[in-house]
Amino acid sequence: MEFDSTTFPLRPAWIEIDLGRLRRNLEIIRADLPRSVELLAVVKDDAYGHGALDVARLAAAQGAWGYGLSTLEEAMALRDGGVRAPLLLLGERQEAELPWCVRNDLTVCLNDARTIPHLVKLAAKFNRCVPVHVKVHTGMSRYGARWDETLPLVERVCSEKSLRLDGLMTHLAQSDELDKSFANLQISRFNEVVEGMAKRGLTVRFKHVCNSGGFLDLPQAHFDMVRVGILLYGIFPSSVCRRLAGIEPVMSVKARIAGIQELKAGEVVGYGMRYTAPSRRRIAVLPIGYGDGFPRVRNQGCALLRGRRAPIVGGIAMDALMVDITDIPDAGMWDEAVLMGRQGAEEITVHELARLKNSVSYDVLTSWRLRLRRKPVNGPPAPGPSGAKAAEAK
Ligand SMILES: *Cc1c(COP(=O)(O)O)cnc(C)c1O
Repeated sequence: MEFDSTTFPLRPAWIEIDLGRLRRNLEIIRADLPRSVELLAVVKDDAYGHGALDVARLAAAQGAWGYGLSTLEEAMALRDGGVRAPLLLLGERQEAELPWCVRNDLTVCLNDARTIPHLVKLAAKFNRCVPVHVKVHTGMSRYGARWDETLPLVERVCSEKSLRLDGLMTHLAQSDELDKSFANLQISRFNEVVEGMAKRGLTVRFKHVCNSGGFLDLPQAHFDMVRVGILLYGIFPSSVCRRLAGIEPVMSVKARIAGIQELKAGEVVGYGMRYTAPSRRRIAVLPIGYGDGFPRVRNQGCALLRGRRAPIVGGIAMDALMVDITDIPDAGMWDEAVLMGRQGAEEITVHELARLKNSVSYDVLTSWRLRLRRKPVNGPPAPGPSGAKAAEAK
């Protein structure tokens, strides 16, 4: 069964994805890049919780060259959705995944020479030339061959006729802070590999280093492509990186008031009786909880109602949280509340929620669970079989 919101009631707690803002963010980022630099839209983890297929379709229309993903499932979902653009699988693949990658034209990162014979065999089996991006570890100590050991790996790739060196890449451990010394060290190590290749006459189509922070603050490291994730979704990776005017958050989290309680002084709220009303209080119940990804806090944080802040009282439950609406007397049943995003002149930012859970914006965006349905707004109606069927039925 498909829970299409035109025919099936939307739960009174949901996520809005503002496709208009997403389109504008993509335009602004693309316009800020020199023409010669390609944009790889990073859509791993379902586009940081925004819906990878919707984001990929929009990014293609705005001139993205391809997409960055983490898992084979993520890449296959885009291929199944009709995305034909290059898909770069970040990270490392197990041997069993490689036939799927080759057959479906997924591009892998090469971190290690051990993968080469497997790819060569698969290239012969499927009768095609297999593109690879060699990953250089320049200081992050995650994936990649050490910068001072990369050249032999590059030479081996180039010596295999059935492999094609499409990319040389590295990843920065700190790109968005004021202190760029470690980023600059990583860039100089990367440049050593680039110079070593030039000396040996080895060429590569795309050299790429920058994530969102590097795109904003390290133009000297843009090379041929930038891999932008969080900035597409309207979130700056840090409070000190360069601002780009017009970038706006794409995701909002909303719920409707599903209950109202009038409390007398001394009465308590929620599991563990963590809040005691100091006086007569009016409490609203919002049907969203930690089971939806809301941080499990107590007596902390707010929701927006009628453009004003209503403080959370008591502890967050799996499916509900309670807010004090004593000072918002016009709030009533099924009124729309905002848990993340803007309402009137007030805003609860992703950073405010990150502080509540002692974490970072990336974690907040990707922690919202799938049982909160994503409702696209300000975009063209989604194409697809459900829309066509609904039209036929009329
Ligand atoms: C996630 C990721 C990115 C994107 O990072 P943002 O900070 O979200 O722009 C780029 N490159 C690699 C290798 C990544 O894993």
